[in-house]
Amino acid sequence: MEEKETLLGKTPAEMQEVVEKLGLPKFTGKQLVDWIYNKRCASFDEMTNLSKSARALLEEHYQVGLHGPLKVQVSADGTKKYLFPAGQHFVEVAFIPDKERATLCVSTQVGCQMDCLFCATGKQGFQKNLSVAEIINQVLALPEFDTLTNIVFMGMGEPLNNYDNLMRTLDILTQDWALAWSPTRITVSTCGIIPNLKRFLEESKCNLAISMHSPFHDERLKLMPIEKTYPIKEVIHTVKQHDWRGQRRLSFEYIVFKDLNHSKEHVKEMARLLGGMRCRVNLIRYHAVPDIPLKSPDGIGITLFRDALNDKGIIATIRASRGQDIDAACGLLSTKNKQV
Ligand code: SF4
Repeated sequence: MEEKETLLGKTPAEMQEVVEKLGLPKFTGKQLVDWIYNKRCASFDEMTNLSKSARALLEEHYQVGLHGPLKVQVSADGTKKYLFPAGQHFVEVAFIPDKERATLCVSTQVGCQMDCLFCATGKQGFQKNLSVAEIINQVLALPEFDTLTNIVFMGMGEPLNNYDNLMRTLDILTQDWALAWSPTRITVSTCGIIPNLKRFLEESKCNLAISMHSPFHDERLKLMPIEKTYPIKEVIHTVKQHDWRGQRRLSFEYIVFKDLNHSKEHVKEMARLLGGMRCRVNLIRYHAVPDIPLKSPDGIGITLFRDALNDKGIIATIRASRGQDIDAACGLLSTKNKQV
């Protein structure tokens, strides 16, 4: 049976087209926007200010598209990893409560083309871009939705490779007709797809995080094949052209691997590349992933690296590891559930 068209992900103008097509009163479009985005209502039956006949007509032709998680893993530190349905596939979402912050790490693709050496998602290969409905569902259907303070697009996939759906999702999160979040509470992470990065800097006000992992071309190339097409130096040159005054934030994500990317030479080159920029470096301790030939650094090595960067005037912090007792590395849970 053919699947009904999904309303989740539509703009107010598109909702209007839907109600016009069905011959429903004009104001029904606004009501649908309110029920779906503000009240997070999963079925037409619950939309009590719509007439019974309107609800029946909508039910006949459309689906709302909000689906709760299928599975959850809970860490001793409170981190939760949810598995959401996405058509025939599954996507992972990590909910990370931390004192007064509660961050949601959202996925934009099933699998990923980028094939970074250290990443379990990359090992799955690329399977599909998530639709707007499948991305925004991870936020709206989250049981802890009301406690969320921040959203980061750092889950499965490269967000800038699903650009149009990412931008539409950011609209739903930030526009007054939907969630009206401040863009400064949202961060999009990329390995640096330069053409779409330029567009993102122009078309969005959300924060940006660049996956760096090494300042050296040959070394980064071994970790991240994208370095061949978009070298980190060109990525940095691109973000330097942008005016970073104001509240929008720029950060560099840097996974620290044992005996690989935290020497004095790395500090020197990072300082050369990032010196004078208004940015921060987030150091992330690598946690070994099955079948990946990279090791976790010792605690003191990462601390010394942070201090050396700070001494050079680069603001660097170590991100606390969370959820290590569950399948915390991005891609692990969905890899295990591929055959579910
Ligand atoms: S780290 Fe990000 S860009 Fe690289 S393969 Fe994994 S999901 Fe893709």
